Amino acid sequence: MTQSPDDGRLVIAIDGASGSGKSSTARGVADRLGLAYLDTGAMYRAVTVAYLDSGVDAADPAAITRAVQAADIVVSTDPNDQWVRVNGRDVTDEIRLQRVSTHVSSVAVIPECRADLVARQRAIIDAAPRGIVAEGRDITTVVAPDADVRLLLSADPEVRMARRKLDHAGQIDDAALRDQILRRDVDDSTLVNFTTAADGVVHLDGSHLTLQQTIDAVVRLADQAARGEETP
Ligand code: C5P
Repeated sequence: MTQSPDDGRLVIAIDGASGSGKSSTARGVADRLGLAYLDTGAMYRAVTVAYLDSGVDAADPAAITRAVQAADIVVSTDPNDQWVRVNGRDVTDEIRLQRVSTHVSSVAVIPECRADLVARQRAIIDAAPRGIVAEGRDITTVVAPDADVRLLLSADPEVRMARRKLDHAGQIDDAALRDQILRRDVDDSTLVNFTTAADGVVHLDGSHLTLQQTIDAVVRLADQAARGEETP
């Protein structure tokens, strides 16, 4: 079994744009290696629900920040049973609604909101007894720069839009699809650079790989890290 050489824990950090396949890959790797899984995007979405519910003015970042900081978020770290609760309410399905996808970037651009979520994410990562696969936009660079494996997963925009359409079983119109992928690429790229790999981060282009091939590639990197070898 793959284990980190230092403390017996293995931390795998995966960055990537929306639709890059990072969530399915991260869940698959966590399941294969018996690790916990953290979807940081779900946390940004969950606090967006809290902010929208609070009715604060969208043009008032200080009020948005207060709503975010006050939000009680609990996320499942079981890769096979994902749920999210905000202020005691289950929002697992709600966080995927278009209104949340539309507003999440406006929360994510506020530095104080990011700092609050990054601290919560680090606490979850540190608390995973055997280790964790954490995914998001800034995991390899900001949240867990010391992770045992750091990976940037990319895929061409056309591939990402086609995958997202499949996720919605074809029931999504082209405008919503472009909003979810292309508009968010632009908005999110002002927050963090998730399109070029930072130093020490492995870049994997998954455009032409199946999910299983992508999971296999990450598990190989984890094995290398466990043997104390440099990941290229
Ligand atoms: O991964 P997902 O598409 O669910 O993320 C939703 C949004 O949360 C992103 O579009 C981005 O604005 C924000 N996000 C972020 N940093 C992360 C994860 C998500 O800014 N680590």
